[in-house]
Amino acid sequence: MTRVTMFHMSNLIILSNRGPYRFRSQSRQDILEKCSGGLVSVLEPLMNQKGGFWLSAPCESGKSFNSCSLSTKYNWGTISCDKETHKGFYDSYSNQLIWPIFHSMLNKSSTAAESSWGAYKRVNQTFAQATCSRLNHNDLVWVHDYHLFLSPQLIRSETNKSAKIGFFLHIPFPSAELLKLISHAKDILHGLLGSDFIGFHTKDYQTNFLDSVQKLLGYACDFETGTILAGGRQVKTKALPIGIDLNPIQRIVNSTNTQERAEAFRNEIGTEKLVVGVDRLDYTKGILNRLQGFEQYLKQNPDWVGKVSMIQLAVPTRTQIDEYKTYKQQVENQVQHINTQFGSKNYTPVDYRYQTMPFNDLIALYQAADIALITPLRDGMNLVAKEYVASKQNGGVLILSKLAGAAAELKEAILVNPYDTDSITRAIGEALKMPAAKQQHKMAKMQLTVQHNDMKNWADRFLSELSHAE
Ligand code: UDP
Repeated sequence: MTRVTMFHMSNLIILSNRGPYRFRSQSRQDILEKCSGGLVSVLEPLMNQKGGFWLSAPCESGKSFNSCSLSTKYNWGTISCDKETHKGFYDSYSNQLIWPIFHSMLNKSSTAAESSWGAYKRVNQTFAQATCSRLNHNDLVWVHDYHLFLSPQLIRSETNKSAKIGFFLHIPFPSAELLKLISHAKDILHGLLGSDFIGFHTKDYQTNFLDSVQKLLGYACDFETGTILAGGRQVKTKALPIGIDLNPIQRIVNSTNTQERAEAFRNEIGTEKLVVGVDRLDYTKGILNRLQGFEQYLKQNPDWVGKVSMIQLAVPTRTQIDEYKTYKQQVENQVQHINTQFGSKNYTPVDYRYQTMPFNDLIALYQAADIALITPLRDGMNLVAKEYVASKQNGGVLILSKLAGAAAELKEAILVNPYDTDSITRAIGEALKMPAAKQQHKMAKMQLTVQHNDMKNWADRFLSELSHAE
């Protein structure tokens, strides 16, 4: 049975592809483990604070259940769908069509994925039905991300309950010209317009959305207020950049264990300076271009060989998709290429780690690093950039892609064109030479920005906009 938790007189229901936990089979037993990733790392603490119900797609094990009581303030349930439908919905339509086009990486998109539209729609319908079956008047429904573009409209058409429906997009929204490359672009827009309120990370993404609605659907949009008049209904939109949960980071930063772990990272590396890269192993993250920038730096600055090294954490992701397998191979070849060229018995220029790291260790790694090299080719926000800033106590330099949503806020970072190797090489040089006082000054400014708009602030603003939407 579902326990109903009250949220300011209304229940909060969250819909997202990925749930807070996953089941992993271990010696014929299912072990429940926490999922990693940007969305979960933000929503889990929020749900633990506010309570409510979280509805997700089945995890990799395929296990589905109506409701699962966790030792948390909220309940969690999954929709059920067969393996083939899930593959069409997730691997194909969401990740081989929407994901590359919304990240402006057209050469990675697959036209064949268009044929999975039926599976994408069916899963969205199942999400909508499962939501409506537990919906009460005045509930707040918060739909997350590109897997569920159709759910807002489907929920609206299946219920007469006076619930408010909100949508937040965690990836960029492309220009109308790129959106049009998807045959069902108009259906996607109609699906989203079932919401009362839609949030984006940046003003640019919001503007692209309004422009697409105007050009493709012909609805009147007010670019000043962000409102759309869609078939007699008003839909509000806003740029609300997501923040991070600072409390656990502060706790971890201040523990002696973390300081010891940070020291251990530095000792393992043994060089004067440490550069860090932390990403899912996704082609949008620009790991390959970044490594090329690092290689060129070592080539042009032989006096730094042996004095600077890099830890590149590559978190396994979407491993069943061919593009990801190829990308992994390219990255690993490039790491090997650098290490054979510049490495020696006591020096490994790139320490490549294909793994998920416990959060405590991750914070220690950020603390240990003199430079964070975060150069996605396109990224909705990039929480790693904010986490790095929040973890630093004494200087540190952030090199950040101009094409990450975080660049709109973290203006004191060294901003680079992630496609341009020279731009990355120059930034590494500038970072290595930056005086301590300048580092501290820039870092303090970015820390204020991150503190000012933390996860709680972001969620409160979203929910407040949603509850006041007309
Ligand atoms: N992360 C993690 N374990 C790891 C590496 C990263 O939990 O081993 C987390 C990291 O702390 C961050 C998130 O994964 O919160 C990555 O978010 P980001 O926005 O940078 O990228 P996304 O993976 O969502 O595209």
